[in-house]
Amino acid sequence: MKRILITGAAGFLGSHLCDRFIAEGYYVMGMDNLITGDLKNIEHLFKLERFEFYHYDVTKFVHVPGKLDYILHFASPASPIDYLKIPIQTLKVGALGTHNLLGLAREKNSRILIASTSEVYGDPLVHPQSEEYYGNVNTISPRGVYDEAKRFQESITMAYHRFHGLQTRIARIFNTYGPRMRLNDGRVIPAFMGQALRGENLTVFGDGRQTRSFCYVDDQIEGIYRLLLSDYSLPVNIGNPEEIAILEFAEEILQLTGTDQKIVYRPLPQDDPMQRQPDITKAREILGWEPRVGRSEGMSRTYAYFKSLSRDELEKREH
Ligand code: NAD
Ligand code: UDP
Repeated sequence: MKRILITGAAGFLGSHLCDRFIAEGYYVMGMDNLITGDLKNIEHLFKLERFEFYHYDVTKFVHVPGKLDYILHFASPASPIDYLKIPIQTLKVGALGTHNLLGLAREKNSRILIASTSEVYGDPLVHPQSEEYYGNVNTISPRGVYDEAKRFQESITMAYHRFHGLQTRIARIFNTYGPRMRLNDGRVIPAFMGQALRGENLTVFGDGRQTRSFCYVDDQIEGIYRLLLSDYSLPVNIGNPEEIAILEFAEEILQLTGTDQKIVYRPLPQDDPMQRQPDITKAREILGWEPRVGRSEGMSRTYAYFKSLSRDELEKREH
């Protein structure tokens, strides 16, 4: 039986990855320190013999018993309000955490895939962003802690690949959404949905002309799965190229939720990227992958999830 370690297992993407690898017949070890994650996302797995959970901080020396075929390193705060609140932990999990997991991969002779991000492109001057673009990141801005942690993560991963011959994969993940996002994590989809469900106005930052391209979680997981099993070690963009301005997106959400709230404007956070759209030519050619779930279908599924949450969860503001 193949054995896989998934860090960030109690988070949004990590928990869906645990489900996927359990469904594929793997023995899954989930690891998480619960700093932004929630055990509720994986509690349904605790009864399974092929799943075990380590409550652990990966910035400390990491070890797991037995053979280990694969590692997926997904531990890291991922939402701007999270990483602005815990900037040093964010830098540490991208740097020290990644170093520890690369060391573990070497020790166990495992293949490792790391979760990088479209944030390595910063506020991009090239559009859409292909993997060849080097990016435009402000290293010293508040947001830089996340971007630079991820850029360092890519560099050290390539160094282990080149210097130690380690089997490595790098997924550059673009904005992904779906069930199990934390309602109060500040990212735009849970923010707007929470506001719609609580009867509050939708807060658009800036004038709302900035764009994003949203990928439904099932598509993202399929892309990551294929990348892990591929033999390609350079970074691959995984995201949905369907791009939309945030203001237009807020209007779509008002339509979807059938609420009569208004849109209100708030200041644009520092260094908030103006545009973002993945060029997924590589993913198409190398992985035979492209997204299948369109925004209206994905958003309906996500809204159904948020609607099913209790009133208490809906009102909870802080993690
Ligand atoms: P999330 O916050 O839901 O999950 C991250 C998980 O990592 C949490 O459960 C958290 O408790 C855990 N964690 C953080 N620091 C840790 C540490 N030191 N030790 C152990 N566990 C730790 O976020 P997510 O959206 O699921 O993102 C997962 C990964 O994917 C992150 O690496 C993120 O940078 C990357 N990513 C996500 C997106 C997206 O749109 N969701 C986009 C680009 C990249
Ligand atoms: N945003 C917004 N209102 C909110 C939350 C976010 O207008 O209540 C904007 C934010 O400024 C950004 C976009 O939505 O331009 C996506 O933000 P998110 O935090 O989801 O992701 P990221 O900026 O990391 O892509």
